[in-house]
Amino acid sequence: MPSSRHYYAIWVLTLLIPFYTASAQDRGHFVLDPGHGGKDPGSQRDGMNEKNLTLDLAKRIRKVLAGRGHSVTLTREKDVYVGLEDRAAVANRIPGCIFVSLHFNSHANRSVSGIETFYWPGSIEGQRLASYVQGELGRRIVTRNRGCKPEQLKVLEATQGPAVLVECGFISNRWEFQRCCSSWFKQVLAEEIAQALIRYQKLPKNQIPGKPAIIAIPVSPVSSDL
Ligand SMILES: [Zn+2]
Repeated sequence: MPSSRHYYAIWVLTLLIPFYTASAQDRGHFVLDPGHGGKDPGSQRDGMNEKNLTLDLAKRIRKVLAGRGHSVTLTREKDVYVGLEDRAAVANRIPGCIFVSLHFNSHANRSVSGIETFYWPGSIEGQRLASYVQGELGRRIVTRNRGCKPEQLKVLEATQGPAVLVECGFISNRWEFQRCCSSWFKQVLAEEIAQALIRYQKLPKNQIPGKPAIIAIPVSPVSSDL
C-alpha cells in the first residue's frame, strides 16, 4: 500500500517531468569550435597548420553527433578568422548548448606529448564536462594523459554555458604529429569526443549550478552516468 509520501513523490514528479524533458532537449545542442583559422594558422609543422586539423576534426565530430540525432553548430565552416569573443557568442546565442573548442598543441621541447582538457577555473560544469572528454580520450588513445586543468582562457571565460578546450596532441612531437595528420587518428578523436559529449548531455539538469534543483525528494537516479 503506497504511503502518503509516495503519493506526494508521484505528484511532484508529475509536475516536474515536463521541465526535465525540456531541459534535456535544451542540452542536446553542441557548439564545436575549430581553433584558429584564416590569418591565424595556430601551431605549424612541415606545412601542416593547426587550423586545418581542428576544422577537419570538428567536421568529423559533427558527423558522428548528427548521425546520432544531435544538433551541431560550428563556429567556422571554412578557413576564416573568427575572434574569440565571436566564437563564444555563437554558443551564447543557443541556450543550454555545450561548447567544445578544439586545438592541437605545440611545445619548444619536442619530447613533450599528450592530451589535456581545460575548463574555466571554478566552473563545476566545465570541470565535469572536461572530465568526461578527457576520460573518453584517455580510455582509448595511447598517449600521456595530461589531465583536466583549470585555465583562464578567453574563449572559456566568454562562454556562458558548459565549455571546455581540448588539446588533442602535440604536433611539435614527431610521433604525435604523424598521428594527428592521419585520418584514422582524427576519426578516433572524433568518436571519443562525441561519445563524451553524449554521455555528458544525458546528465540531469539538477546538476547544473545556478539553476534550482528540480527533484528534492529521494528518488532513483535518472541516469546511469551519475
Ligand atoms: Zn590552438
